[in-house]
Amino acid sequence: MDFSSRINFHTHTRLCKHADGEPIDYCREAVKQGVSVLGFSDHTPYPVKRWETVRMDLDQMPLYVNGIEAARREFPQLRIIMGMECEYDPAYANFFKDVLMGEYGCRYLVGAIHSYVDRNGEWKGLYGYRMTDENLRDFADHTVAAIQSGLYLFMAHPDVFGVSYEGWTAEATACCREICKAAVAADMPLEINGYGLRKKLKLDEGTMRPQYPLEKFWEIVGEEGVKAVVSSDAHRPIDVWSNTDDCVDWAKRHGVEIVNELIAEKIE
Ligand SMILES: [Zn+2]
Ligand SMILES: [Zn+2]
Repeated sequence: MDFSSRINFHTHTRLCKHADGEPIDYCREAVKQGVSVLGFSDHTPYPVKRWETVRMDLDQMPLYVNGIEAARREFPQLRIIMGMECEYDPAYANFFKDVLMGEYGCRYLVGAIHSYVDRNGEWKGLYGYRMTDENLRDFADHTVAAIQSGLYLFMAHPDVFGVSYEGWTAEATACCREICKAAVAADMPLEINGYGLRKKLKLDEGTMRPQYPLEKFWEIVGEEGVKAVVSSDAHRPIDVWSNTDDCVDWAKRHGVEIVNELIAEKIE
């Protein structure tokens, strides 16, 4: 992607309790770093207390909206789009659609699986254990259901299971292939996530690798012909474009088409 089309749909704000800065701070950096389209996709609030330590509260939505509007007034040269990053839980699909998009005017949702429902019907996070092939299967099934829900513009870090999965098996390949096939069928891009490239490397069978993205995952993406969105997943204003050029390299290395521009045109 050349400098004139730096487009990022994955930006957080201080409201999620683990990022810094107001929308205006991200926009100032975006202008400085040659970003032309900046989408905000902070972690969604819920109408109930749920995973509330890493997201805004519902009554902070007006702050989010007003912060983005203030940034628009300050930086009219930048196209600023308001979205939201959401887990997949069918119980809240209507909340995402009616409240986030309807009431508050979010233009898009990013799907992101940080927790999945396992085969026993229990919600399970990604951290604190070594993921087995069975866990990975459950994660993949949950991701496929998210893709098929039609709620999301793209899936963020579809290979985030790399934080807890070590080694690689035929089952891992099968799981990744199913995620990819679902994305192709839904004509939905998958995200190459720059934040994963800024995190501490993980020791995996004697070698150090990013926690995510995963080379093996993106090899399969290339084979299956899935399209990609590249994102910084910025949690600090300075990172508004950080590692996104690296994500472009990942796409090229695996023959994956980047569709940030097409997606930007699609959002109203
Ligand atoms: Zn975050
Ligand atoms: Zn994010």
